[in-house]
Amino acid sequence: MNSRISIVKCNSYAPDIIEEKLRKAINLIGGIEKFIKPQSKVLLKPNLLMAIEPESAVDTHPEVVRGVIKILKEINCKIFVGDGPSAWGGEMENVDEVYRRSGIRQVCEEEGVELVKFENNRWRRRLLLTTWLDHCEYVVNLPKFKTHDFTILTAAIKNLFGLVAARYKMQLHKEYFKPQDFSRVLVDIYEEVRPALTIVDAIVAMEGDGPATSGKPRKLNLLLAGSDGVAIDSVLALIMGLRPKDILTNKLAAARGLGIADIEHINILGEKLEEIIPDRPFQLPAISMIRKIPLPLVNLAKKFIKYYPLIIDNNCLRCGSCIKACPKQAISMEFLSEYNSRIKFDYQKCISCFCCQEACPHSAIKVKKSLLAKIVGL
Ligand code: SF4
Ligand code: SF4
Repeated sequence: MNSRISIVKCNSYAPDIIEEKLRKAINLIGGIEKFIKPQSKVLLKPNLLMAIEPESAVDTHPEVVRGVIKILKEINCKIFVGDGPSAWGGEMENVDEVYRRSGIRQVCEEEGVELVKFENNRWRRRLLLTTWLDHCEYVVNLPKFKTHDFTILTAAIKNLFGLVAARYKMQLHKEYFKPQDFSRVLVDIYEEVRPALTIVDAIVAMEGDGPATSGKPRKLNLLLAGSDGVAIDSVLALIMGLRPKDILTNKLAAARGLGIADIEHINILGEKLEEIIPDRPFQLPAISMIRKIPLPLVNLAKKFIKYYPLIIDNNCLRCGSCIKACPKQAISMEFLSEYNSRIKFDYQKCISCFCCQEACPHSAIKVKKSLLAKIVGL
């Protein structure tokens, strides 16, 4: 079995250019009606991780969302746009701010489509997911291509984590704190949701300690489209300088038959892969460097090779987002005097999930390595 995906060059977020390139990407794989029936109800799921402006490259760019809305309007679909970004304590007012600052609210208002909140959820298998999945016949997945400090890559598969009920996200992070286990949960979500179409915003991607403000934007000038999220994430792994199955979600999803991770069986239409792979591989998140040493050695030394969050005090605005984000209540605000406070980590409780780094809007949390990790050059 083969999968088809398209890769199209796009060097700007200007609305008319984006729309033209999105059309090209979708037409290369057979046109919108191959994936979405006219007049159906469609949920668009961008990656809206936090309340931050589009230039930061943290959220899916609003003009990508606009372009997809325009294409779906032409086949008279009823369109809903939403994401559940508020894992940080599950506060719904935060979603309004995310929608405003990301530029998504403005696009939805201008295009006359409904911007929804994932307030109601129901259990589907053992996952608590938004009921908008019941309301809509199709999901169009609109991830941003970024590195991720826990899963290494966030794109087609990881983006669907936003469909999980806000408070339940914390529980999942707490229960499944090993990358293998958490990746299995992400693949469960992908299997349950199975988006009809995935379109990746890789015009400005992110490398380094992504997926939030600790990562670095990286211009790639690409859009990718296809119905096989595993194939898309596998191609993105190659673009990063990795092998597709270095990303655990690709490996697990391919083993379950949910998509293709073998590049020999992925038909890439549009740009040629060898021509778009950058000369310089992606800078990976610090924590992923552990993969550089052989697994038996990692198992032997894992008690001593550790990664912890560390505060960059000058950047910290004491906003408290990290405290709310921590699934283990390992962070507190320590008051040193009436006017002076600081963020404190309890490393006995910390499970190195880096939810705090992801939640921090001010790049104030970095990765601290244990002595042995430094000695072995990780
Ligand atoms: S302190 Fe940060 S890395 Fe540690 S458990 Fe809490 S959120 Fe995760
Ligand atoms: S570390 Fe970041 S999230 Fe935590 S209080 Fe400081 S600025 Fe806020």
